[in-house]
Amino acid sequence: MSRKLDRATSAIDVVIIGAGVVGCAIARELSRYEVRVVVCEAAAEAGQGGASKANTGILHAGYDPLPGTLMARLCVRGNALYDRICADLGIQIVRNGTLVVAMSVEERSHLDELLQRGLANGVSGMRVLTRDELLALEPRLNPKADSALFAGTGGTVEPYEVTIVLAENAAVNGVEFLFESPVRGIRSVRGSWEVAIDRRILQTRFIVNAAGLFADDISAMAGAGDFTLYPRRGEYVLIENQLDYEVHRPVFQVPTTRGKGIVVSRTVDGTIIAGPTADDGDDKESTATTTDGLARTLAGARRSVPMLDSRHVIAQFVGNRAVMKERDDFLIEIGAPRFVNVAGIKSPGLTAAPAIAEYVVGLLGEEGLKLRKNVDFVAENATEMLFRCCSAEQQERMIAGDPSFGRIVCRCECVTEGDVVRAIRRPAGARTVDGVKFRTRAGMGRCQAGFCEPRVVDILARELTSSALAVTKCGPGSEILVGNLRPEGGHNA
Ligand SMILES: Cc1cc2nc3c(=O)[nH]c(=O)nc-3n(C[C@H](O)[C@H](O)[C@H](O)COP(=O)(O)OP(=O)(O)OC[C@H]3O[C@@H](n4cnc5c(N)ncnc54)[C@H](O)[C@@H]3O)c2cc1C
Repeated sequence: MSRKLDRATSAIDVVIIGAGVVGCAIARELSRYEVRVVVCEAAAEAGQGGASKANTGILHAGYDPLPGTLMARLCVRGNALYDRICADLGIQIVRNGTLVVAMSVEERSHLDELLQRGLANGVSGMRVLTRDELLALEPRLNPKADSALFAGTGGTVEPYEVTIVLAENAAVNGVEFLFESPVRGIRSVRGSWEVAIDRRILQTRFIVNAAGLFADDISAMAGAGDFTLYPRRGEYVLIENQLDYEVHRPVFQVPTTRGKGIVVSRTVDGTIIAGPTADDGDDKESTATTTDGLARTLAGARRSVPMLDSRHVIAQFVGNRAVMKERDDFLIEIGAPRFVNVAGIKSPGLTAAPAIAEYVVGLLGEEGLKLRKNVDFVAENATEMLFRCCSAEQQERMIAGDPSFGRIVCRCECVTEGDVVRAIRRPAGARTVDGVKFRTRAGMGRCQAGFCEPRVVDILARELTSSALAVTKCGPGSEILVGNLRPEGGHNA
């Protein structure tokens, strides 16, 4: 009997609750060992349920968190781990530094504070730039800028890509993902845990609570610690890149007590992103954008890049930070025997995620989880370049081998039917229109899915052998089609 089958039929060792970037990073890290891991996720796919798909995508250097905090330590370590992870998993990464811009002599003193903090946290490659040096690096910035802190180890990734690819690699290495499986209850029974999801009860020895903004509810269910999380909304705009306001790296303003201010940055795919606002609320699930948020984001962004033009706005979105009432640091600790809380993972949680994973596996080991190396662990994902990223010769070969690579599904982003099919067929692959979008960029371009959505719906229905009416944007309740215009099902509406 193969080792993989052994693992699949054995009892569950660890249930991870939440498939955001933190849960997926932990799942992948655990898959380096011979442990049976099941991830329960409320949403339809990895990275769709919380902050991991809706953030700025910045790899923070680590000058921001206070020295001595877990946040500072795991941010710097996580940042350093990204090069290896991105190389292994084929994740796009741009590491050309970040800037914090001071607009006045008064603000300049804050740069020195950040520099000292960064040095205390062990961040390398930082220096303060004069106005001329800054404008040579980023000519479209406000000419009234005074100076800036440059942090060379900063960079950008696509946060949803990181999350999805970590999940897919964990799945390749034997981790089981249960999507649309919100955890409803947890109880301790004679040295193990029972986890109730909609369709069944899972028995596991260890639990990792990586439920993002809902980690307080999960902890309360298990009697594993009392803390409160509330959402701090952050609104963003995505803007078509134009020469007049092109930036090449994240440009921060001097931070305040409420956060790092409005950032103007460039995603790894070249779109300009501006945001986030910072508004405390109590609705953890509210992701509706507002005209007020749009106005404040643009006004804040224009402080750094005056030429930003609202006529080129492509899309708006909201991400909710998981802010903990009781402390201003990550809470990663044993909440009850064999139960690890991973809570309050606000920014820089994306950066820190790989280091959080290492740290959590260490805690599980201390709690008694046997960590024997999985000799079958595969660190790399099979390379499957998207059609548009291939050379003309490669593209010709792809079409010759499979004509579906010759059929364009998304014109704006040059995504082919073959790309979409691959995205669906991968382990822990796409199940929704957003899942296809986040894996291929189909629907992310100027027309915002006007052309490709019906085609993506058809391919999903065909590949998942379901009706087109059952295909959703991002899980139950977000069905795209409402019925057939013809009773025999000729055309969907
Ligand atoms: C506006 C904003 C900007 C940010 N910018 C950056 C940045 O530039 N760089 C950076 O490093 N960090 C940034 N962050 C922080 C980063 O996004 C988060 O730290 C990170 O995404 C947290 O990941 P997570 O897995 O803990 O949470 P989430 O991504 O929220 O995942 C939690 C998952 O748990 C699931 N879940 C919840 N309840 C249950 C349940 N009962 N049963 C099953 N599943 C459940 C949810 O559906 C969700 O998928 C930003 C955050 C925000 C909001």
